[in-house]
Amino acid sequence: MSDRIVYLNGEWLPETEAKVSIFDRAFLFGDAIYEVTAVVNGKLLDYPGHTARLNRSLNEIGIKAPVSDDELLEIHREIVRKNEITDGLIYLQISRGAADRDFTFKSDLKPTITLFTQVKDAVNNPQAETGISVITVPDQRWRRCDIKTVQLLYPSLAKMEAKSRGADDAWLILDGMVTEASSATAHIIDANGKLITRQLTTEILPGITRASILDIAKEAGVDFEERAFSPEEAKNAAEAFITSATAFVTPVVKIDDTVIGEGKPGPVSKKLRELYIKSRIELSI
Ligand code: PLP
Repeated sequence: MSDRIVYLNGEWLPETEAKVSIFDRAFLFGDAIYEVTAVVNGKLLDYPGHTARLNRSLNEIGIKAPVSDDELLEIHREIVRKNEITDGLIYLQISRGAADRDFTFKSDLKPTITLFTQVKDAVNNPQAETGISVITVPDQRWRRCDIKTVQLLYPSLAKMEAKSRGADDAWLILDGMVTEASSATAHIIDANGKLITRQLTTEILPGITRASILDIAKEAGVDFEERAFSPEEAKNAAEAFITSATAFVTPVVKIDDTVIGEGKPGPVSKKLRELYIKSRIELSI
């Protein structure tokens, strides 16, 4: 915690003065959608993708956006200015609103919208140099993982399990196949240099960074295939990596007890990370 200025329902407030009702459905039911957008050099990365996914998620659970797309962009820009963020992230959450506790809800609730910033130098993340280690755990999340809800208890427990076992993150396994990482998309590179990433279904979040990486792979002549892969295939892959708004491309050098490739970030992961950072900074707004 620090002395940030946060946004709450149309107001700019010191973080200690921003108060949300204990009856808010985000608090009682995890009934809320969120997005995380990276800020580099004071500008927003991959912003159009994040707004499009936000609107899709809201639509899927029937929450009406409390602000227009133009207003939302202006709020993002203003929060960067107010907090003098050069490198970091913006967290945005929209809940269905507050009402007496009831599983059913009325359609006229007033959504609660909050935004706050966090400082983070995602470009110079030391994990990009060393790579990270992951463990595999069962994917026990609800089955609409394509919606970016704040129901993050399982990913949070999976990350704690990884930490307790000396690893950095967890990859989730459903029906013998990798779905995704606890808070990122999972990818591998096969022996021929082909990128393999799971196809988009309700079983994974449609990662905005994933979409950018596939565009970049196309432009850079990196062949790719969208299909599920098993943990065994991943352990035998030439390279593995995760993508997310704030991890960008982060190499994975160990899965459970198996060292991937030479145990250090491989050439394709490194190239994709470089191209991602360069191209998205150029396109940032
Ligand atoms: N998958 C999950 C479960 C996530 O939580 C995230 C990011 O938070 C991602 C994938 C990556 O999505 P994006 O690249 O849009 O950050």
